[in-house]
Amino acid sequence: MSRAKKVAVLPGDGIGPEIVEQAVRVLHQVEKKFGCSLEFSYGMIGGGAIDRAGTPLPDETLQLCKQCDAVLLGAVGGPAWDHYPPEIRPEKALLQLRKELGLFSNLRPVMQFDGLESSSALRPEVIKDVDLVVVRELTGGIYFGEKTRINTPDGEVASDLLIYHEYEVERIVRQAFEIAEKRRKKVTSVDKANVLESSRLWRKVAEKVSQEYPDVTLEHMLVDNCAMQIVQRPSTFDVLVTENMFGDILSDEAAVLSGSIGLLPSASLGRGTFGLYEPVHGSAPDIAGQGVANPAATLLSAAMMLRYSFGYHEAANAVEEAVKQVIAKGFRTPDLIKEGQIKMAVDTEEFGALVIKEI
Ligand code: ATP
Ligand code: MG
Repeated sequence: MSRAKKVAVLPGDGIGPEIVEQAVRVLHQVEKKFGCSLEFSYGMIGGGAIDRAGTPLPDETLQLCKQCDAVLLGAVGGPAWDHYPPEIRPEKALLQLRKELGLFSNLRPVMQFDGLESSSALRPEVIKDVDLVVVRELTGGIYFGEKTRINTPDGEVASDLLIYHEYEVERIVRQAFEIAEKRRKKVTSVDKANVLESSRLWRKVAEKVSQEYPDVTLEHMLVDNCAMQIVQRPSTFDVLVTENMFGDILSDEAAVLSGSIGLLPSASLGRGTFGLYEPVHGSAPDIAGQGVANPAATLLSAAMMLRYSFGYHEAANAVEEAVKQVIAKGFRTPDLIKEGQIKMAVDTEEFGALVIKEI
């Protein structure tokens, strides 16, 4: 394969360093097995960076990320920094990083794991064959529109402006089609076009972009209907694409299909192939330092990096398959063990080692 791909590794706080360590080990195994070459450079971010550099996102970390092909992040935050002022909170680093790196979409795949059917909030027959990805717009919509708050004789009045530019819709919808082309070739565009003008623009743009992808099916779905379908017929979805707030809500809803927050990876993408990869879960301060965190979400995030930033599809599939196999064989970190269940309990390091063996 071509020149070494550069990965900025930002372990962060809490369980971040423990789970990222396993991901780097697994990526070393991928190098060996698939003959590709990865170069890892470490940077600090979050609470640890506040303590050592006075800011959650030091300039050298930002520069490091900009020089790399992808970023692998653990998690940031924890009780030690909760009382800090908003501008120097650990979480601030993520928003800033996404903005500086021009990342406008957030991808959250949700898949079913054999052997974990009983962990899901839904019946096994409903989650069977679930394999979907929610593509959420990240930089526009009601979160970033103008906000007002005024006093009137009738009491206070507040407003949030939901605004989308055509180009913002176009780039995210196009990304969804690109992803769908490499999957089951179906895009569900989720909106509220019966009520919102921004949704009517969204629909129009989605139709236009779909012309360029004749082999991908586009369907439109109202967000309220979609919320129901996700729990009733989740296996019918392939790629869902939607605006910022709908995506926020639907991706959390879809997350419960899997069974544990320790299993959910994510990617934030922009133009080109650069991406930031991190588990959906936080820094889990309650279990940090104990070596028992589930590294699966981070390993699956690393697999997404191989797929979306490096185009190493075979290697990406191998990592995903290995994680699934380890779980299917009955190995469980504590978060996956239900009371009364007899399973083979493993810690973070052992789980990583099993995945490496599987690859
Ligand atoms: P944030 O605000 O960063 O999302 P949070 O406190 O809301 O943080 P998490 O840090 O994700 O959420 O933790 C929520 C719960 O899930 C905690 O009990 C934590 O121990 C558990 N948890 C999160 N990630 C993992 C993991 N990888 N393995 C095991 N348990 C986890
Ligand atoms: Mg949280």
